[in-house]
Amino acid sequence: MAEVIDGRAIARALDEQTKAEVEAFVAAGKNRPGLTVILVGDDPASEVYVRHKVKACERVGMRSTEHRLPAKTTQKELLGLIDRVNASEHVHGILVQVPLPDHIDERAVIDAIDPAKDVDGFHPVNVGRLSTGTGGIWPCTPFGCIKLLHSVEPDLTGLDALVIGRSNIVGKPVAMMLIAEGCTVTVAHSKTRNLPEKARQADIIVAAVGIPELVKGDWVKEGAIVIDVGINRTPGKDGKDKLVGDVAYDEVQHARAVTPVPGGVGPMTIAVLLANTVQAAKALH
Ligand code: NDP
Repeated sequence: MAEVIDGRAIARALDEQTKAEVEAFVAAGKNRPGLTVILVGDDPASEVYVRHKVKACERVGMRSTEHRLPAKTTQKELLGLIDRVNASEHVHGILVQVPLPDHIDERAVIDAIDPAKDVDGFHPVNVGRLSTGTGGIWPCTPFGCIKLLHSVEPDLTGLDALVIGRSNIVGKPVAMMLIAEGCTVTVAHSKTRNLPEKARQADIIVAAVGIPELVKGDWVKEGAIVIDVGINRTPGKDGKDKLVGDVAYDEVQHARAVTPVPGGVGPMTIAVLLANTVQAAKALH
């Protein structure tokens, strides 16, 4: 049986560490680390994510502020708010919840965030820092994947890694991080030929596609580590929606270790967001 990588437990341990760092920071007389979340419009899924993030801040003793703006907010108004939170000494992390309404240019908004407060790690300065190996703030979900890999294998040097997916938020940054870890990295996408064959060569597979159970048992070599980023809703036998990943979990039990869905990568994203905010607070002071 493959080891189950328990993302919930690893995220809890990271939260404990973040909480201790928050208290040490405050005890040293500095402003309590604070995260600002900006939500434009009333997308129900975004509402849930924002609520989770605010609750998570409370859990680790961090300040959180929420800015809920109506869907008709103009880009100029949103950029004005970002200017103000960029300048606030109580705000160390800024997160703009996506998707934004169609009339707002998401790229312009991300570019306006002070890179030192860009705790999502999507600003071009942070993307550049990651890809040049010069620090910066790293995006939460990919960084969470690396932490999960480290829980199984602290030294990834020399391993062959296959990343399936090349999005800016998961595939590309996780590939950059694996390169920094000393892996030999292949990045696959919808145009890749012979994907199962490539997968069978890999010591590490990170699947970030969005296709339920794309990665089959015979794609995975014995002893590989499998990180499943996918979150897909499919109809269960009882008629209710159930969550499945991009990996056929039951078929990969000959792997060394695998992340479940839910309970694998998902819980890491917010834990890394909080950890990034404390690191940002330290760097800003
Ligand atoms: P995107 O849709 O932006 O990217 C999907 C990638 O998969 C693309 O690069 C695409 O290739 C590639 N792809 C599509 N079909 C195939 C195929 N048949 N074979 C190989 N590659 C393929 O998705 P995201 O990166 O945003 O998200 C990926 C998954 O991860 C989703 O299920 C999402 O819900 C989940 N997710 C989970 C998070 C978490 O916290 N756990 C956070 C973020 C995402 P191409 O570029 O050629 O189109």
